[in-house]
Amino acid sequence: MWLGHTVKVDRAERVSTETADRSQVRRAVLLLAGLLVVLLMVAPIARQPLSGTEPLLPAYAAAIFVSEMVTVALLLALFGVQRSWALLALAGGYLFSGLTVIPWAFTFPDVFPGWAVGDGLQTTASIAAFRRLGFPLFVLAYALLRDRPPVHGSASWPIAGVIAGVTGVALGATGLIIVGDDVLPRFMTDKRNVAAVWFVVPPATIVLYACGLGLLLRRPLSVLDLWLVVVLCTLLIELVLLSYVSAGLRLGVGWWVGRACGLLSATIMLLVLLLETTSLYARLARSVAAERRGRNNRITTMEVLSASIAHEVKQPLASMVTNADAGLRWLAKEPPRSDEAKAALGRIVRDGHRASRVIESVRAMYTKGSQERVAVDLNARIEEVVEAYESEFRLSGISVETDLEPMLPLVLGNPAQLHQVACNLIDNAVEAMRPVAGRRRLLRATSRRRSDGEVVVSIEDTGTGLDPAHGEDIFEPFFTTKPDGMGMGLMFCRSVVEAHGGRLWASANIPHGAVLTFSLPEAGEEG
Ligand code: ADP
Repeated sequence: MWLGHTVKVDRAERVSTETADRSQVRRAVLLLAGLLVVLLMVAPIARQPLSGTEPLLPAYAAAIFVSEMVTVALLLALFGVQRSWALLALAGGYLFSGLTVIPWAFTFPDVFPGWAVGDGLQTTASIAAFRRLGFPLFVLAYALLRDRPPVHGSASWPIAGVIAGVTGVALGATGLIIVGDDVLPRFMTDKRNVAAVWFVVPPATIVLYACGLGLLLRRPLSVLDLWLVVVLCTLLIELVLLSYVSAGLRLGVGWWVGRACGLLSATIMLLVLLLETTSLYARLARSVAAERRGRNNRITTMEVLSASIAHEVKQPLASMVTNADAGLRWLAKEPPRSDEAKAALGRIVRDGHRASRVIESVRAMYTKGSQERVAVDLNARIEEVVEAYESEFRLSGISVETDLEPMLPLVLGNPAQLHQVACNLIDNAVEAMRPVAGRRRLLRATSRRRSDGEVVVSIEDTGTGLDPAHGEDIFEPFFTTKPDGMGMGLMFCRSVVEAHGGRLWASANIPHGAVLTFSLPEAGEEG
């Protein structure tokens, strides 16, 4: 029942509908072949009596009873999930078989000699005939009901109906057999040997088994169908051993080997259901875990995405507010300085475009396969960014040096993203140098072409420097040592650089400060 309430079970993952694979068919065929070999080996000694084995019968019946009742419980649990009429019919069959095995063992001659009721000569054989002919009828019902649409509504009523109906029929009929020994067919001549009339039962049973097999084999076998075929074949082998090979002699070698086949057939379905439901459970547990992991990853990505948008857009927004203030001030002057206001508005437009490019590039970073790549001149980008930061450098008392290699090869990249990388690195350098007093605040931007086809850009500062204890943590999302920091900048830079096939790393600047360096493959190399 747990399956249905907690997880939606895919049709293909149902024990009763999943098609049996080759390895299962191979295992089933091997099992039946093994049983046939046993049958052939036992045949010559089948009629040897094994006297004194009656006390084993209650244990045998108890084993069958327990195994068939557990099978009933599992089949009803499956019915609770799948609501298939066929499963209900099969559960009814196992319930019938399990309930009738107990009176069969109780009435067996010399097993419970003191039991006054049911010690008639024909009782045990009649219960056996009833049991043997009854079970295949349920299998026929299973095979015929396989295509019926599932039960709608509550599963409890059909389950209660089947339990009540089958229990009533099984116990009522065996009760009648026990008390009405006089009117029963004369199956037995004495306690050990069957009469000629008994030999009507095996052929009738075989016909029913054959019908069941025919109906089951009509279409591709599900796992349950396959093992039900094996169950019927095992019961057939049991019947052949009991009725033909042993010629109806009770408690002989062939009879006991036949009974062992009966026990095997009772446990096959139990084992299959246990194995299949356990492996189904494992599959479902794995898929639930994978789904949970996926959800967590999606949440982290969303957090990273929203934090990085906030981080990257903060700067152009701040600059727009500053320029808007300046524009208002220019317009408030007497006479209004429209040329200055126009320039401020122009800067707002530029920052607005920049913010939208940033959003686009952040989105592009998290959208698979939509990475715009063009040839980018890193020297030009660095000069552009350095120029944009000019007033910032001036206000913070920072001197700037650029050492850019002439004729630097182009790289293939997303210009807005690479621009943002340079901005982030420069932002960090500026912030690291602000608290510095008593030495020169110097920012150096260099570019080099390396012999291995890579272009390397470094941003060096003489700031507070990197704390060696933090190591690679500075590249982790949300790692920050600043009171108002977000810890997204370096994470963003590294993701972008790596998405471009490059590397980003940090090192110490001697004697003071930090160096952040990234390398990117030359455009020719990538293409
Ligand atoms: P944020 O700037 O919001 O803190 P970053 O991911 O850009 O986030 O940086 C993470 C941390 O790395 C910073 O808080 C700082 O401790 C360290 N860091 C980055 N760049 C430098 C630098 N140039 N000098 C010293 N420390 C740096």
